Amino acid sequence: MNIYYHSLYTEGIDPESSFPRERYRLIKKKLEGRDSFRILEPQKADISHIYKAHSKEYVDRFLSYNLTEKEIREIGLKPWTENIIDRTLLITGGSLSALNDLLKGDPVSGNMAGGTHHAQQSKGSGFCIFNDLAICAMKAIESTEFKRVLILDLDVHQGDGTAQITRDISSIFTFSMHCKQNYPFKKQVSDLDIEVESGTKDQEYIATLSKGLDKLKDVDCDVVFYQAGVDTLAADRYGKLNLSISGIKSRDELVFAFAKEKKCPVLVLMGGGYSEPIDETVEAFESLFLTAKAYNYKL
Ligand SMILES: [Zn+2]
Repeated sequence: MNIYYHSLYTEGIDPESSFPRERYRLIKKKLEGRDSFRILEPQKADISHIYKAHSKEYVDRFLSYNLTEKEIREIGLKPWTENIIDRTLLITGGSLSALNDLLKGDPVSGNMAGGTHHAQQSKGSGFCIFNDLAICAMKAIESTEFKRVLILDLDVHQGDGTAQITRDISSIFTFSMHCKQNYPFKKQVSDLDIEVESGTKDQEYIATLSKGLDKLKDVDCDVVFYQAGVDTLAADRYGKLNLSISGIKSRDELVFAFAKEKKCPVLVLMGGGYSEPIDETVEAFESLFLTAKAYNYKL
């Protein structure tokens, strides 16, 4: 299984930032010794793909260091380094490269970052600058292989940016299951939203997810994008749910079993994860990629 990673995923964030930048490096360290993963460096995303999901005006202002202080504050990741642009283009490129693997026939491919679901058409937000889910979905529906995309977003936060960008596109179906009491406080409308209450633990979460996936059985799709945020962990600094690592593993297994049933390849994007200390986040993402790897069957 291919997984895209670049050292700027970590080093493009200032060490003084409150964002746990080490998580990327630590996950890579966990996975690189295993021969079943091919860890590859992405190319920077071609801007033409980004324009399909974002307004040219916003993209161009970001790429020329012309966002306002207020816009930068809403994104976070501060203080910004001189590598913020390259980092953003590499992360977006990692997701596009993983999508390319699926277009070439791989059943699963992933980015060791991405899932930047809060970025809207003309603004960034909540650590997200460009929305790789929406960018990849726009690219997918223009291909001959993937006419319909199903986005499963299980981050603790709603996939509000993805819902906003793809709202009027009927061939992209957005499903978000998130904690009602978490950011964003003004939610957008996905094609299907399920809100769970703060404090929800493994058993109830898995039962709710299972019912949610049942509702998606009839959604036509050629490819599944999985935003697999692990900020649903009880140890997470921001997330208000109470999942354990074994709960996350059950969640991931449900998602891949669902995709298998649909005979869809899966694009795996990481999403949020901010446990304190960071070890549980790293362990949960390692588990995600191990579950994903087991999906390497012939579709
Ligand atoms: Zn999140």
